[in-house]
Amino acid sequence: MTCSPASDAPETDSSAVGPPRGLSPSRYDPDRAGLDALVAEVGETTGTALPTYRVDQLWQGLYRDLIGPEDVSTLPKALRGPLADLLPPALTEDTRSVGDGGDTVKWLWRLADGSLIETVLMHYKDRSTVCVSTQAGCAMACGFCATGQMGFDRHLSTGEIVEQVVRAQVEAGNRRVSNVVFMGMGEPLANYDRTWAAVQRLHGDLGLSARHLTISTVGVVPGIRRMATEGLPVNLAVSLHAADDDLRDELVPLNRRYPLAELADACQAHVTATGRRLSFEWALIDNVNDRPEDAARLADYARPLGAHVNLIPLNPTPGWPTRGSSPARVREFADEVNARGGNATIRRTRGTEIDAACGQLRAERANADSVNAEGSVPVAAPRRRGNGSSR
Ligand code: SAH
Repeated sequence: MTCSPASDAPETDSSAVGPPRGLSPSRYDPDRAGLDALVAEVGETTGTALPTYRVDQLWQGLYRDLIGPEDVSTLPKALRGPLADLLPPALTEDTRSVGDGGDTVKWLWRLADGSLIETVLMHYKDRSTVCVSTQAGCAMACGFCATGQMGFDRHLSTGEIVEQVVRAQVEAGNRRVSNVVFMGMGEPLANYDRTWAAVQRLHGDLGLSARHLTISTVGVVPGIRRMATEGLPVNLAVSLHAADDDLRDELVPLNRRYPLAELADACQAHVTATGRRLSFEWALIDNVNDRPEDAARLADYARPLGAHVNLIPLNPTPGWPTRGSSPARVREFADEVNARGGNATIRRTRGTEIDAACGQLRAERANADSVNAEGSVPVAAPRRRGNGSSR
């Protein structure tokens, strides 16, 4: 698999709406106006103009009852088939893994063109959170990230993003999925318009509070600045991992284009415009970014922005065999950041035994497939300590 350098990141496409080229719309792609047009089309082909309330029924099925056209019992049977054909589901379950005594569910979904993406549902005492992907693969080329190691396949459509939340809510049953983190595969702000359309759909049509939506980015500065102008105050998380440009250039290659000073300005613009607290993600890598001077730089960078820092030991991946920091070092590092006026906490990990860290399930699947193709028996993956996309 190839890793595209960050400078080739397909940002030019980030302001495109509608499904990516060659992909037909799925059931959560059209907005309300799009659905009006689609139902009118079906009316024409069946020779009877359909009243508006038919669209209302379909819309309620999709967004209130979370069912497909084939199951909307208020629609005449003769309509359900054609509508279901026009609006197929985007996600087919390839693998589902359950961990943490049922509290973590991770899916590997197959998309219409065969691409594979991951979604993780996490139940906590007080809430349920779903972690969604925004791209198949990723072009940002962060070496330590399993998805970064795969390279970029394509952007996800709005419907493919929204349906991940819907399917997680269906799985969760009467536990409400109240929080969505855009921390799965891909860089959300490199697929800006489709991601933002998904944010609006989740907020406006599925009724999720903007305060419970979090977009995580490697630091796509123009995207952060756009978010600041949107008028919908969602949370911003930035995957920082280093607070000096030399080290960050290495760990997060996009830093070469948008260095730390520019990133801080954009973050400040977001904080000022939305009033939301900023958070930084920091994966602690043994002897790389967990030294006392790293803690000092991080505290100095985060303090003026009022940012909260989430610390997590790096989860080793096949393409980056460096170790995560020891639990003792993680605690010391948190203390060092906090002693300098930073605000750091250690993130609880989730889904470790089911490889619920960004891109891992798909990477395991690719390994198993290639081993199978050679006719050998797949071996169990070693147990890993990990981050589990938890929140
Ligand atoms: N592209 C976005 C969102 C996806 S990654 C972003 O970078 O923010 C979600 C989070 O998982 C990021 O903070 C990322 O840095 C982190 N991550 C990726 N690989 C990891 C690993 N091997 N160990 C720990 N955290 C990792």
